Amino acid sequence: MALPDRRTEGGVRHLAAQSQARPKSERWLLHTLGRQVAAGVALVAVVILASFGYDQWQRYNAALAEAGRETRNAARLLAEDTAQTFESVAKTLRAVAALHADVAAGRYQDKATIQSLLKAIAGGSEVLGAIGWVDRDGNCVASSLYLNPPRVNVAESEHFIAARDGDAQRLFVGVPVREPVTGHWVINVSLRLETPDGQFDGIATGLVNPAYFANVYGSIELGPGRIAALFRGDGIVLARDPALDDRLGKSAAAADWFRNLVPRAATGTFAGRNFFDGSERIVSFARVADGAQVVTVGVPRGDALAAFYRDLTRGGVRLGLLMVMLAAGARLLIVELRRRQRADGKFRELLEAAPDAMVIVDRDGRIALANAQAEELFGYRRAELLGRPVDVLLPERYRDRHPQHVQDFIERPRARPMGTGLELFGRRKDGSEFPVEVSLSPLETESGMLVSSAIRDITARKRVEAELAQASRAKTDFLAGMSHELRTPLNAVLGFAQMLQMDRERNLSAAQKSYCADIVRAGNHLLELVNEVLDLAGIEAGRLKLSIERVAVRDALDAVRRTMMPLAAKAGVNFAVSIPEDEAEVSADDLRLRQILLNLVSNAIKYNRPGGEVILTAVRVAGGRMRFVVTDTGIGIAPASQQELFQPFHRLGAEHSPVEGTGIGLALSRRLVEAMSGTIGFTSEVGKGSSFWADLPEAASRLSCEASETDDTAASRIRAGGFSLLYVEDNPANLRLMEYLVSTLSQVAMLSAPTPQLGLDLALAHRPDVIVLDINLPGMSGLELLARLKAQHETRDIPVLALSAAASPRDVKRGLEAGFFRYITKPLDVNAFLAAVDEALAGAPKRRAAAG
Ligand code: ADP
Repeated sequence: MALPDRRTEGGVRHLAAQSQARPKSERWLLHTLGRQVAAGVALVAVVILASFGYDQWQRYNAALAEAGRETRNAARLLAEDTAQTFESVAKTLRAVAALHADVAAGRYQDKATIQSLLKAIAGGSEVLGAIGWVDRDGNCVASSLYLNPPRVNVAESEHFIAARDGDAQRLFVGVPVREPVTGHWVINVSLRLETPDGQFDGIATGLVNPAYFANVYGSIELGPGRIAALFRGDGIVLARDPALDDRLGKSAAAADWFRNLVPRAATGTFAGRNFFDGSERIVSFARVADGAQVVTVGVPRGDALAAFYRDLTRGGVRLGLLMVMLAAGARLLIVELRRRQRADGKFRELLEAAPDAMVIVDRDGRIALANAQAEELFGYRRAELLGRPVDVLLPERYRDRHPQHVQDFIERPRARPMGTGLELFGRRKDGSEFPVEVSLSPLETESGMLVSSAIRDITARKRVEAELAQASRAKTDFLAGMSHELRTPLNAVLGFAQMLQMDRERNLSAAQKSYCADIVRAGNHLLELVNEVLDLAGIEAGRLKLSIERVAVRDALDAVRRTMMPLAAKAGVNFAVSIPEDEAEVSADDLRLRQILLNLVSNAIKYNRPGGEVILTAVRVAGGRMRFVVTDTGIGIAPASQQELFQPFHRLGAEHSPVEGTGIGLALSRRLVEAMSGTIGFTSEVGKGSSFWADLPEAASRLSCEASETDDTAASRIRAGGFSLLYVEDNPANLRLMEYLVSTLSQVAMLSAPTPQLGLDLALAHRPDVIVLDINLPGMSGLELLARLKAQHETRDIPVLALSAAASPRDVKRGLEAGFFRYITKPLDVNAFLAAVDEALAGAPKRRAAAG
């Protein structure tokens, strides 16, 4: 079944079309789909957020690790440089110690010489400001700056005591102090001096400029917030870049990192608050000369993560947008699903509320949908129907043609009731059949056209119809009987009343004469009524006997004119008859034709006004017909009443007027016209008048045998060559009759065939000019034989006359539709039959010429 895709398609009708097709579980699924979509989207959002978070966490850690790596490298670099610097300072002081030893050994005594030697040793060092020595009591003795050093005693100072108590090889680095004279920061460095026998002999001193380190450290480029610092092994700050003087000389010995990390590793990184100002930093340290000093390089945590934060903001914005879009998409989806659910539900309700069984079929003829009424009607469960060809609901004999019907409907869809004029049947699951009425309507969906059919079981109606027909027949029989019985006593009433009128001897009084006249008038009216009722009943009971013959239109019109003139004159109505010039004839029952025309004209006079006009005429119309028209300038018929016209006993209000009538005339006229293969109709306008017309078949021009003998027309000359007539009939009596009839036509030879097959063979072999078929043939119906004749090239154009006892107008119509040239009913009306044969032969010369 080409059902539309369930998820992606929209549209009420379309969804509707699916709703029933879906199993229950799937409908439930659709119901909860909204929630599932929401959950799904939420899950996707969580996954996206989680992966975004994880990614950012990694970037964050990478940013921190990067900061650690950079600061560690910088710290190592500075530590190496610093170690070399102190090494060179130590070398210088060792050279000072060597000079001191020379002076102590008496090699140099001249102060100026000593000073210049000291200057040479200092050699313009950027690190050391001044060098010299102090004697064992702490007095400054020699200085590269002064010839006579100022009398200063440093015996109490840290660098004197530490050097005195320390190792002669090991440089002591003092706490930064402000130089009293210049106010600059200086670091005293010292080395123990010894006599040759190892006794303490004073200290070699030097002044180190902390700004030197600050300068060197300044070359590290790690952003504006970067700090590089030099600590003494015990935590005292020796130098710093950027220079913050108040920090020099302070101790960081209490800081966690200093206590816990530095003793353990030569280099390391930590994140934490600055010991002095509390700012968040990432700091790396590197020990100098195995812990004599420590260099640190730190960056503010914010700087280290700045790039990360920038990316995070951008990524966050993008993520936010994505989430918004996701949410909006999910919302749309849910709204749409809900809408579909609602539409779906609505349509289902609608379908279930329909009074009829509803079956919706796709273009392959498969059932896409069925309501509960359909289940009940056909005895199938819905699941058994869905997807199956709709043919299962039809009796087998209709199944061949049905798919084509579905296809035709889909190609030319329009809502229509099905089977007008056709008897349709449905088939239940148990195989039983029942009469149905089906209406079809196209159902447009996004995946194509579906056909919706409403199916109604009309078993009950059929029964009622049959009962009604039965009742109607009983009524007709009763009326016919009644009318007959009424006529006898009525004859007596009328007869005696008229006798009384004529009886001179009795000398009736004026009043009595008037009573008699009333009896006669009323009696006549009653007689008319009885006659018409009898007529109508007779027609309805199928007892109408018509004698169809050629009726000259002029004669008929003239007769009506003569009869009606006095009535028109009495009513003061101007009655004119326009009689056609030519010799037109109609095929009709002469008396009945007059009856119809008299009735129409009498109405036109009765429902007129004094001085009004009535015109009777006859004109040729399309389809070989004559139209008799009666036009009046009378009162006209109101539109609301028009549909009651032609119904027996409906007088449309005239019953309240003085105009006499029975209300049967038009009903009878219609039945008569139709019995003569004609049609009747009217147009009318209130206050202006009406025009009634009756169409009857025109009789073809006569070709009689007598005429052929005397006539010298082209037709008769060709006929001299002889015509042939093939009669297919199995009844010998009928054959004899036909032989006699044909013998009266001197130029026509007759072939006969007692079986249809022989008839077909003879037709092919002889190609007769006309074929006459009995409809009830053994083995093959006349209709079937006709179809075969029409199917063969050789016999296709030969006119075929049907002779049949099935004489209802419907049989005639069906026969003519099937392709019979004429449909002649039994008992045979010889004149009508011969006229038909004449007509058929009239085209023979042309056919022969065409066939060569
Ligand atoms: P009735 O015996 O009453 O004339 P008919 O069957 O002939 O019965 O006509 C039915 C009704 O149709 C009339 O009673 C009248 O009301 C209406 N009718 C028929 N012919 C005409 C006409 N030419 N003009 C106006 N009304 C007419």
